[in-house]
Amino acid sequence: MPRTPSRRTALQGLAAAGAAVVGFDPFTRSWAAEATSADGRALAGLPRLDGSVHTDDASLTADSDDFGHIVHRRPAAVLRPGSVGDVVAMIRFCNKHGVPVAPRGQGHATQGQAQVDGGLIIETTPLASIGPVRPGATTVTVGAGARWSQVARAALAHGLTPPTFTDYLELSVGGTLSVGGLGGQTHRQGAQVDNVTELQVVTGAGDLVRCSPARHADLFHAVLAGLGQCAVIVGATLRLVPAPETVRHYLLPYTDLRTFLDDQRRLVQEGRFGYVEGQVNADADGAFRGYVIEAVAYGPPVGPAPDDTALLRGLRHDPAGVQTSDLGYFDFLDRLAASVAALKEAGLWAFAHPWLNLLLPGRSAAALTESLLADLTPADLGPGVVLLYPVLREKLHAPLLRTPDDPVAYLLAVLRTTPPGDTATVDRLLAANRAAYDTVRAAGGTHYPVGSVPFDAADWREHFGPVYRRLATARHTYDPRGILVPGQGVF
Ligand SMILES: Cc1cc2nc3c(=O)[nH]c(=O)nc-3n(C[C@H](O)[C@H](O)[C@H](O)COP(=O)(O)OP(=O)(O)OC[C@H]3O[C@@H](n4cnc5c(N)ncnc54)[C@H](O)[C@@H]3O)c2cc1C
Repeated sequence: MPRTPSRRTALQGLAAAGAAVVGFDPFTRSWAAEATSADGRALAGLPRLDGSVHTDDASLTADSDDFGHIVHRRPAAVLRPGSVGDVVAMIRFCNKHGVPVAPRGQGHATQGQAQVDGGLIIETTPLASIGPVRPGATTVTVGAGARWSQVARAALAHGLTPPTFTDYLELSVGGTLSVGGLGGQTHRQGAQVDNVTELQVVTGAGDLVRCSPARHADLFHAVLAGLGQCAVIVGATLRLVPAPETVRHYLLPYTDLRTFLDDQRRLVQEGRFGYVEGQVNADADGAFRGYVIEAVAYGPPVGPAPDDTALLRGLRHDPAGVQTSDLGYFDFLDRLAASVAALKEAGLWAFAHPWLNLLLPGRSAAALTESLLADLTPADLGPGVVLLYPVLREKLHAPLLRTPDDPVAYLLAVLRTTPPGDTATVDRLLAANRAAYDTVRAAGGTHYPVGSVPFDAADWREHFGPVYRRLATARHTYDPRGILVPGQGVF
């Protein structure tokens, strides 16, 4: 639905009022600061909140940025909810006034997906409850703002774990469930969205709804990997499985792309390891033709003590370059923490991240990788990495997580890092991302929507293909005024 400026005056009014904090004062039972609309009228009907709404410059500036550091859209106000009821109240308020809204987890999207020009940001960080986790539990219910590191720690205290993690743990549960949540465990356990039994959401109309495969299934399936288009996730019930105490971690080097891909395919189809990923590194000539399989075997109590001979049998890596290490399970999950700290220390975390994330059909993964990486230079990757690993389609069940029509798909992630001030380079890399996407799409591949590929509504319609109509119907039903998450550009 098109939005006219008059529909936005409610929150623009908050910004125009210049109130540092617009919050509910429990003693006077009134708003701590008076807000007026942009045309000077007093703004009536603001809901009472347990938390607060902020319009100060620091809050608005912080939420006008993300991990990409490429797109900047300034909201009119930021909600720090004190309760789920606050999310309901403010979405109802915004729905009534036609104000756009975007939930923001950890802000690790790379292209403004969690930003909203002149609207309301709902920071989900305060909604971070976890549990209780009971010994032997098969699920845990968490707030959408909980980070996966927090969920992992709470579950591991009882010898349990969610089955699938992203590589980086400091992402919010709501943020990854809105995109899919892929990692090295996905080939056995599915994506994070495949391991949710129930969601608690607030629709764009402001209704608090519990949904699951058995209850409001249309909403459940429209929210998982649904890019926030129908509802804000406020809570999720996640599957838990027994956790290994320790794991054995292998790095297996390859010099030939096809051998590397074939061995990866063999490993995921046989399910020999609990986790399989891979990286492509540049050689001394700057060509991306050094390949490494990263594989992890779970130890007791989940699996037997890892047996190197059995686990590596028949693989065609260079045996001289194998690296093996034994790690605690959480240390393995949290393996990026040290490098992230180093990147932050070096100022590189604040660089622009025009990331490219594509799912390649297995049948053409080698040819596509060759052609895409032939155009990549170490300078254009910067201090980033190239990931390449397979997922099995039979394990992926969320309709909105679009994957190639092939039993095996390979995630190719070119995680570029480049100085943010050099906008000409950023623009060139974004154009390169788009060209790469067009090449992959023509071969039946898909976009994994966490990166920075310029996309318009027509691209999204094509991306969702046979499920687009279902998503559009759910959007119409649950967010009839179309206020949610404009930064994705889907509608
Ligand atoms: C260092 C790093 C490593 C990563 N590794 C992986 C990986 O291994 N595997 C993988 O799959 N992805 C990975 N990602 C991508 C990541 O999963 C997504 O970008 C994810 O959306 C980020 O979570 P967030 O909490 O920062 O979400 P945000 O950036 O805050 O939000 C992302 C989108 O989700 C929406 N959203 C956020 N919270 C909610 C909610 N509660 N309800 C509805 N919509 C919501 C936002 O409006 C926005 O559109 C990585 C990203 C980074 C920066």
